[in-house]
Amino acid sequence: MTQDPTGFAGRCVGNSYRLIRPIGQGATGTVWRGEDAASGEPVAVKLLHDSLLRQPRLVTRFVQERTILLMLRHPNVVRVRDLFSVGETLGLVMDLVDGGNLRDHLHRSRTVAPGEAARLAAQIAAALAEAHELGIIHRDLKPDNVLLDSDGQTRLTDFGIARILTLPSMTTPNAVVGTPHYMAPEAFHGTTPSAATDVYALGVLLYELVCGRPPYRSDSIPELMRLHAEGDPDRPGGVPDQLWRVVKQCLSTKPPQRPTAADLVTDLTALATNLASMPALPPPASSPPDADSEPLRSSAPPKPERVPSIPPPRRRRPRNDAPAGRWSRLGGIAALTVGAMIASGIATTAWHLGRAGSDPGDFSTIVVAPSVPRLTTAASAPGGASRQPSNQQLRQRKPVRNVALPAPKPKPAGVRTTRAASHRTPARSPLPEAKPRGPWQCSQRLVFDLPSRTALGPKPCHSIGRDVRFQGYLTAAAGGSARVEVTLQDAATGRTVAGPKRCDLTFSKQTYTRACGPSDAVPRRGRSYTVVMSYRYVRDGRTTTSTTKGSAFTW
Ligand code: ADP
Ligand code: MG
Repeated sequence: MTQDPTGFAGRCVGNSYRLIRPIGQGATGTVWRGEDAASGEPVAVKLLHDSLLRQPRLVTRFVQERTILLMLRHPNVVRVRDLFSVGETLGLVMDLVDGGNLRDHLHRSRTVAPGEAARLAAQIAAALAEAHELGIIHRDLKPDNVLLDSDGQTRLTDFGIARILTLPSMTTPNAVVGTPHYMAPEAFHGTTPSAATDVYALGVLLYELVCGRPPYRSDSIPELMRLHAEGDPDRPGGVPDQLWRVVKQCLSTKPPQRPTAADLVTDLTALATNLASMPALPPPASSPPDADSEPLRSSAPPKPERVPSIPPPRRRRPRNDAPAGRWSRLGGIAALTVGAMIASGIATTAWHLGRAGSDPGDFSTIVVAPSVPRLTTAASAPGGASRQPSNQQLRQRKPVRNVALPAPKPKPAGVRTTRAASHRTPARSPLPEAKPRGPWQCSQRLVFDLPSRTALGPKPCHSIGRDVRFQGYLTAAAGGSARVEVTLQDAATGRTVAGPKRCDLTFSKQTYTRACGPSDAVPRRGRSYTVVMSYRYVRDGRTTTSTTKGSAFTW
């Protein structure tokens, strides 16, 4: 059983949640079995380690996980119920998924029959397909983050480092995150995560379930990187052709050649039926069950108290809609907390875990070397392998959850690169006389729109010089359309001094950021102004209206 590091057992937290015992341990907190004292329902409560509360970036991560889970309502995703603060800590209340995680099952069974593995993977693919549809990338898919309920249904969890694809402010550009055995070759280089990186991880997971070990094994990160980049996994005897084809497609080194999660749902569901009668492969002869899959783990993972075998599927649970009263309250909290995150700028940087080795299960989500400026395989590193830290050095390094590589020149979030030149970050020096206006200054906001389950990024911008130029951008992570109005207002009186500029914008996966403007104005000198964006956003018949103000500036 996981130890109680906090002495919280028996305490009541939040509105009415009683903590019973710790059941899981992660990088940011301890997961408890608890109970809703009002209804008697069992719940899981993830408590942020109080020592981490002073690290705003970790708090952000924690809050972000809740907001992402709020957007994602799917039978194969853990449902979040509540967020609360108690004394010094923060807690996330979720449905209790009491069948243990897939890692624990693998510990026990060593290999999973191909048909059953396909069934489990099809459910994970369904959860991913829903997330991808909303523009959310999980980024840390692995057996530890897949829970099983008592009906044998999977529930994907741990969206702590997930990224909302189209909203760059949520996570660090170029951060290398993930768990090396499950990381796609491109993920090692800090490229923008994509749906294809999740599909790659699902391929690794499927391989591991069937074969009892991950496709690439090494206790050295550079070596693992090389193996992922080569893309030539071993095929153990007995792996059926149809399943191998799917695994190979997922493990393709070229992201566009991988299937989508939605394609996988179809393929894997068919495989689950076709392979239903096949027995599990014999476990690999080597080493203990998953020692190879977690070579850098500093100590043993927490074990749940009860690890039942995977029960057969029974029935599908209803979609995980939350109780209406709670949702509306959470909507308010979401707006506030996300607003606070953005205001403090903490959503834009990576976090480091200072307490190396304090989380038994944490090796998992890695890190690579903080001082490695850009990850390259040993063979391709500039100057050869000698520039890489040695394996020994890598092993000795403290595990860090997420490492920011040197940031590229910042470009305004959500603005397409072709426009970047005219949208640099605020000027450091006064305007050169020759230029009619200074650089664009923008206020990026992030709004989780609960009715349409969409992340929206309104961004009012202005540029001042001989006149005032103003413009608004709207980013919509999951398609839809919007009517946008952009005005220039007197910051003191709220009076509109220019505009409105009106635009009808349509969003797609290819064009998720659209501009409205620019417009020019010559308002009275010596006053303070602000750009105001109002928008009415529609997706799947659900409508949201909102207004965002940029920061005030004097002209
Ligand atoms: P971390 O972000 O720190 O990795 P996770 O969300 O992955 O934390 O949770 C760590 C462990 O806690 C999981 O592997 C699982 O064993 C347990 N756990 C997490 N959420 C739940 C839940 N809703 N129900 C039951 N157990 C859970
Ligand atoms: Mg986890």
